[in-house]
Amino acid sequence: MARRLIEAPPQAVTSPAVRIRGLRRTFGSNVVLDDLDLDIAPGEFVALLGRSGSGKSTLLRILAGLDLPQAGSTEVVGAASVAFQEPRLLPWRRVADNVGLGLRRRSRADRRARAAEVLGEVGLTDKTDAWPVTLSGGQAQRASLARALVNDPELLLLDEPFSALDALTRIEMHALVLKVWNEHRPSVLLVTHDVDEALRLADRVIVLSAGRIVHESRVTNPRPRALHDEAIAHRRIELLGHLGVAEPESSHPAQKESA
Ligand code: ADP
Ligand code: MG
Repeated sequence: MARRLIEAPPQAVTSPAVRIRGLRRTFGSNVVLDDLDLDIAPGEFVALLGRSGSGKSTLLRILAGLDLPQAGSTEVVGAASVAFQEPRLLPWRRVADNVGLGLRRRSRADRRARAAEVLGEVGLTDKTDAWPVTLSGGQAQRASLARALVNDPELLLLDEPFSALDALTRIEMHALVLKVWNEHRPSVLLVTHDVDEALRLADRVIVLSAGRIVHESRVTNPRPRALHDEAIAHRRIELLGHLGVAEPESSHPAQKESA
């Protein structure tokens, strides 16, 4: 008696958390995203690089549901939340109330309890009742991150969240984002124009140019990463090339790190 063999369907082992196909967004005659395809795996940390005006924020806004494409499809499995370069806290609400804003249909006490929890995670327990205006730039960005995390999103969209911070605060924020990512494992799409930041943080670095993903590099080095590592230094030169930047001698990572 012959048994019928059932073949596994030809699909990836895990289906992606984000699946973008044929995405097109134009502003008048300006074609910003042009037949763009991208998948992000569950729990994957992707950094999106591109020159100013290349459409990085447009892509993020579409994924966040803040903008609509003219063509193509985007599928996001689960909840997505965004943090921007400017923390965008409401000045007339205390920090915990800002953070709790994303929690609808919950009592104020519930929202504050959950806000206090995430504020603890980002190291802002002592700022729960503070007014946003009293926060430093780094603290405000932590609060913004807490607000993005309050719903425990499956996808965290970060649009240059560290670029307005001073170098030391930025290093602290890198560690914080990695901690949060390790603990909750959302998929992350981090927009940055900083190649080193991308190489420090991401599993995969992608380059957006002329409306499409023109390059991707996987980075498998364990974190925390040293930028002078040979494989990473090689990726860095490669990525700068795809961004149309020739690396000047003086910006060698070994020198930058000791500066
Ligand atoms: P990036 O974040 O990579 O710097 P953006 O996605 O913000 O780039 O912008 C990509 C292009 O789309 C730019 O040329 C920008 O001027 C244009 N653009 C973005 N938003 C709008 C809008 N609302 N109206 C018209 N043009 C826009
Ligand atoms: Mg932008």
